[in-house]
Amino acid sequence: MGYEAIIGMEVHAQLSTKSKMFCGCSSRTIDQGANTVVCPICLGMPGVLPTVNRRAVEYSYMTALALDCKATEGRVWFDRKNYFYPDLPKSYQISQHSSVVGRDGHLLVEVDGVRKEIGISDVHVEEDTARLYHRDEGEDRYTLIDFNRSGVPLMEIVSKPDMRSPMEAKAYLRQLRKLLRYIDVSTGDLEAGSFRCEANISLRPEGSEELGNRVEIKNMNTFQAVEHAIMTEIVRQSAILDAGGMVVQQTVGWRDELGRTEPQRIKEEAHDYRYFPEPDLPPLVITRSWIDELRSRIPELPIVKRDRFVSDYGLPPYDAELLTEDPAVAEFFEECVRQFPEAKAVSNWIVGELFRLLNVSGGAVGALRVSPGQLAELLKLVESGKINISTAKAVFEEMFESGRSAEEIIAESDLIQISDADELSDVVDRVLSANPDAVADYLEGKTEALRFLVGQVMKDTRGKANPQMVARLLMDSLDAMGQE
Ligand code: ZN
Ligand code: MN
Repeated sequence: MGYEAIIGMEVHAQLSTKSKMFCGCSSRTIDQGANTVVCPICLGMPGVLPTVNRRAVEYSYMTALALDCKATEGRVWFDRKNYFYPDLPKSYQISQHSSVVGRDGHLLVEVDGVRKEIGISDVHVEEDTARLYHRDEGEDRYTLIDFNRSGVPLMEIVSKPDMRSPMEAKAYLRQLRKLLRYIDVSTGDLEAGSFRCEANISLRPEGSEELGNRVEIKNMNTFQAVEHAIMTEIVRQSAILDAGGMVVQQTVGWRDELGRTEPQRIKEEAHDYRYFPEPDLPPLVITRSWIDELRSRIPELPIVKRDRFVSDYGLPPYDAELLTEDPAVAEFFEECVRQFPEAKAVSNWIVGELFRLLNVSGGAVGALRVSPGQLAELLKLVESGKINISTAKAVFEEMFESGRSAEEIIAESDLIQISDADELSDVVDRVLSANPDAVADYLEGKTEALRFLVGQVMKDTRGKANPQMVARLLMDSLDAMGQE
């Protein structure tokens, strides 16, 4: 029998605030000694009082607005989510449950050129827990706890169960991460744990409207792992249903190295957490004007920008996708096109040369030495024939490293293209008389001999000759020889 997969995603994104959610400790705790970025509040000592990080609320509202949610106005409060676990010293997590930042939004995703809206159920803020390190040294099994992460601001984004395939789930996560990066509220780094995904999956016979039992998958640390884990879970549940069994509602962990999931626990119901409003924090009062102000700070979103790059600049969708992956790249492109209005040529240089150099150097676009104006200047030199493409590539590499202008580099290294016919004719004559075999080949109709001869002239001029002109001069001379 065929089954339909019903997939929903929960994402916990760490917000890029300076301090933690409810205390003044720094939220940058990576690379710090264990248990050094802590205070009585985030250690959950008795008698302390939390205060709300305004920036964290701001960032989560911006996210809700960017996801087209209905942002909550008026009173917004925090709830206690009660459970005991060693990584949670207070035995409750300050989170949101009955009141959230926003509800009922959507995110547009694309799989194989087909667009689909994935519903967003809600966006809420909460605090992170401590980190546990389980050690198993033979007889000696123990767990270390690092409280640095305790109290770091998290935003939870819960989708509706609108995805139907692992590919859709992956596309949703990629698009969501891109959006968070665009509005600059989270680094979205999966491996560093600042973008954690959980998937819930159930199957139902095709055509049925009833929902089956859900299984929640945790511990997926790459987009690839998300796709594999969901695929594996679909196969597992299908086999159970085919055999007439029932899927147990539970939480499983993905073991990437084993390529399978492992049961973790039987999933709690919401009422097991005994949610109630956090008595240590007064409700926030969110005004419409503040929401409007936040909305005005949201930049053009990735899919909108991509569509605009296709329609305004006439770029192929593939180029537009690459250029809008990172807003800093998109900005670099647009600034360059303003000064050199050949969009496709600019795109080719960015996607080709710039990305190649960035890959090699491991640098970020935000920290580039070369400016969009400098690239525009280089492209103008190519267009005017002052330098040829291969020289331009070498010059660009030098610009990338030093931040110096193309004019400066070219003047200094004597790289100006030789387009002077008299000067080139001498070289052409020399090359023709030094390579009688190639000449004979060409005259016998082996046109590839021409490429060899062009190469010889380029070599002789240390790459500075105008290749089109060289080819023309060579053909003129060869044709004249053929007629003799
Ligand atoms: Zn603290
Ligand atoms: Mn949560």
